Amino acid sequence: MADTVLRPLRAETNNDRLLRARVREVLQAGHVPRRAPDKLFGGFAAGDSCAVCGAVTASGEVVLELEFNVDSEGRRTYQVHPHCFSILSHELQDG
Ligand SMILES: [Zn+2]
Repeated sequence: MADTVLRPLRAETNNDRLLRARVREVLQAGHVPRRAPDKLFGGFAAGDSCAVCGAVTASGEVVLELEFNVDSEGRRTYQVHPHCFSILSHELQDG
């Protein structure tokens, strides 16, 4: 888990402009690695919060799990909404 917690957006937002701003914040703060995940899984939410927007995922909601290999720790996983992930990957591609 990250050391500091960004304030969640009001809810999972469909406002892409807000989400893009959030993605940049999250990347800048190092909450999510600035690269493509080593593995990507789909699954059902277990009540964690989305690593991008910070909204708590509803139980049973479909989420993506991003897995990153981290030298010091083995691996780290992040749960994100599919929509948040699409904004994140756009942002990673754009630089
Ligand atoms: Zn989200």
